[in-house]
Amino acid sequence: KYPSFGNLAPRDIASRAAKQVCDEGRGVGESGLGVYLDFSDAIRRLGEEKIRERYGNLFAIYHEITNEDAYKTPMRIYPAVHYTMGGLWVDYNLMSNLPGLFVLGEANFSDHGANRLGASALMQGLGDGYFVLPATISNYLATQKPDQRPKTDHGAFRDSEDQLRGSIQRMLAMKGKRTPASFHKQLGKILWDHCGMARTAGGLKKALELLPALREEYAVNLNVTGGAMELNQALEQAGRVGDFIELAELMCLDALTREESCGGHFREEFQEEGECKRDDEKFAHVAAWEFAGVGKTPVRNVEPLVYEEIKMATRSYK
Ligand SMILES: Cc1cc2nc3c(=O)[nH]c(=O)nc-3n(C[C@H](O)[C@H](O)[C@H](O)COP(=O)(O)OP(=O)(O)OC[C@H]3O[C@@H](n4cnc5c(N)ncnc54)[C@H](O)[C@@H]3O)c2cc1C
Repeated sequence: KYPSFGNLAPRDIASRAAKQVCDEGRGVGESGLGVYLDFSDAIRRLGEEKIRERYGNLFAIYHEITNEDAYKTPMRIYPAVHYTMGGLWVDYNLMSNLPGLFVLGEANFSDHGANRLGASALMQGLGDGYFVLPATISNYLATQKPDQRPKTDHGAFRDSEDQLRGSIQRMLAMKGKRTPASFHKQLGKILWDHCGMARTAGGLKKALELLPALREEYAVNLNVTGGAMELNQALEQAGRVGDFIELAELMCLDALTREESCGGHFREEFQEEGECKRDDEKFAHVAAWEFAGVGKTPVRNVEPLVYEEIKMATRSYK
C-alpha cells in the first residue's frame, strides 16, 4: 500500500492489509493465516550481519517455532491483539471516579493513537508507576485520617462480598457443557471479526446480537471444575470471561456510536484513501461510559479534547 515505506508501513495499515488478504483467502502457509515479511531487500542493502544485529533474537525465535531460516525464506506473519486501547476513566492524577482507586498502565484509558509505536505501552506503565503515582497517591493519602478508613463490616463491603460469593457458587453449581476457555475463545473471535482493526456498522450490529446471546448462554451452560477454596484457575477465568463479555458489549456500542475513524478505531465507512476520516465537529471528545445498572444502557459522558500546545492534524503517509 505504501511501497516507499517497504516493511516499515504504519503498523495499523500493515496489520489491516494482512488480515484483509487472509480474509480474501490469499493468505500463505498451512492455515492461510499469514503474509510474508520479506527481508531480502534489506539484507541485500544492509548485509545479513546488520540485520542479525538488529533483529537476531526475533529471527532466532522464529526459527525455534517454525524451523525456517528467515534470512533465506520470507517470514510468515499475522497480526495479533496485544493491547487494549481505552480503559477506566481517570483524572489528571490517575484517580478513577471512585475516590482512592488509582488506575495505571494498560488498565486506564491511556492515550495511544492508531500506530501505537513500539514500547509505548510499557513506557506508559513506567511513566505512570515511576513518576505520576508516587506523587498523586501520597497527596491523596495525606488527606485521609486513619480512623476514616472504611471497615469490612460496612454494608457496601458485605453486599459486594455476598454478591461475589453468590456468583462463585452459581458458576460452580451450574455444571453446564462448556468450559470458560471455550466462551473466552468465542468471545475473542466475535471481537476479532467485528470490533477489531476494521469495523463497520453492520459488523458491530451483528456483534451486538451475538454478544448478548453469548452472555445468556454463559449464564446457563458454563462448566467450572474444582472448588472455591483452592487455587482454581478455571474459576478465575470464568469470572474474568463474564466481565469481558460485559466490556465487549460496551466496546461495540462505543465503536458503533463513534461514526468516524480516529486513532485505532477504523470504521470502513469513514476513510480517505485508506486513512482515518475524522469528524471533529461531532467527535473531538473522549467518550466516558458510565455504568447505569445491570441490563440498562450505559450513559455516554463526553469530555472535549483541548489542544493547547499543538494543533490537531490529519495523518497522511502519501
Ligand atoms: C504478545 C504481546 C506483545 C506485546 N508487545 C509489546 C511491545 O513490544 N511493546 C510495548 O510497549 N508493549 C507491548 N505489549 C503490551 C504491554 O506488554 C502491556 O500493555 C503492559 O505489559 C501492561 O502492563 P500493566 O502493568 O498495565 O498490566 P499487566 O502487565 O497486564 O499487569 C496486570 C497484573 O494484574 C494481575 N491481576 C489481574 N487481576 C487481578 C486480581 N483480581 N487480583 C490481583 N492481581 C490481578 C495480573 O495477573 C497481572 O500480573 C505487548 C503485549 C502482548 C500481550
